[in-house]
Amino acid sequence: MEFRDLKAQYLHLQAEMDAAMLAAVRSGQFVLGKEVAQLEAKLAEYVGVGHCVSCANGTDALQLALLAKGVGKGDAVFVPDLTFFASAEMIAAVGATPVFVDIDLATFNLCPKSLESAITRVEKAGSLRSKAVMAVDLFGLPANYTEIEMLCKTRGLTLIEDGAQGFGGKIAERRACSFGDIATTSFFPAKPLGCYGDGGAVFTEDAETAERLRSLRVHGKGEDKYDNVRIGMNSRLDTVQAAVLNVKLDAFVRHELDDVNEVAAFYTEQLKDLVKAPKVPDGFFSSWAQYSILLKNEEERNGLRTHLQKAGVPTMIYFPKPMHAQTAFAHLCDDGKNCPNASKVSRCVLALPMGPYVTMEDRQTVCDEVKQYLNG
Ligand SMILES: *Cc1c(COP(=O)(O)O)cnc(C)c1O
Repeated sequence: MEFRDLKAQYLHLQAEMDAAMLAAVRSGQFVLGKEVAQLEAKLAEYVGVGHCVSCANGTDALQLALLAKGVGKGDAVFVPDLTFFASAEMIAAVGATPVFVDIDLATFNLCPKSLESAITRVEKAGSLRSKAVMAVDLFGLPANYTEIEMLCKTRGLTLIEDGAQGFGGKIAERRACSFGDIATTSFFPAKPLGCYGDGGAVFTEDAETAERLRSLRVHGKGEDKYDNVRIGMNSRLDTVQAAVLNVKLDAFVRHELDDVNEVAAFYTEQLKDLVKAPKVPDGFFSSWAQYSILLKNEEERNGLRTHLQKAGVPTMIYFPKPMHAQTAFAHLCDDGKNCPNASKVSRCVLALPMGPYVTMEDRQTVCDEVKQYLNG
């Protein structure tokens, strides 16, 4: 059994995919070719924002968003304590200071109450300027933007949506990557919408911000590539990856998003009485980048993981270390006392095989093995 079966997906799309990749190669426009422009237009339309600017990966997308919004030295950026390292890493990379905020135990996402107390704490301390919030759509579920957008507005903070895991999610009719002032996603192969290598994108409603992003991704270009008006990056999407994504986006919209939700519904139905299944609040819709269950304690989690491994069921732990405990952030002297939920989840969480191509047989095997272990 695969943790995320990318080969099954390729075989499903093979004829169309092979033709699209070959056409991109034959065009000879290997970087930012016409497929890239087509993809950006389709992504902006699907997400429902004015502009999509693609780039080399989801990490660069975050850096581009931070640079475009003028985040830098002396700025505090609030970010969940439980996320992939890149979210906090890019805040530090642009010279700002990440401030780790606790998560909600039911949704695994940024807790608006903890966010509010963190903002107050930073204001009291007085050494940093509260500048932005980077909310993360962890495991495919949009963060609580209903509350976070309001809080950012009243406090005058820029809101960045890290939608690397969130593409395809929704709150009511608003799609992920349309929240806040600027949003990003990743096309790393294992994300909800993945390519065959690295890729990413930034989304914004604002034409001026989009223009700045297009400059930033090509060395801060002005009139042309050899007129440079700001310090930027080299972060463009390859044409072949855009061709792959054009085919995959169609499949994603046509059936994959529904299929992955069917797998999630099956897991939840079978496991909800045994473990803490991931909660999707009313009005929210997840694209299920991961299906993570919460066990009673670390011992039960590790025991189940070993049992599943022996039964041929691969699992993953997202994430074994919260940001405050990362060596790279030791200088921030954050002991994690403000983030008990993030610490608990890192000890008790376990992600099960997931994706739109998990067969009926595999779904049942996963649930049977979990039940067998926990009913001991
Ligand atoms: C994967 C991921 C990223 C980084 O994306 P890459 O394309 O791997 O650079 C950023 N944030 C989160 C939450 C992610 O899961």
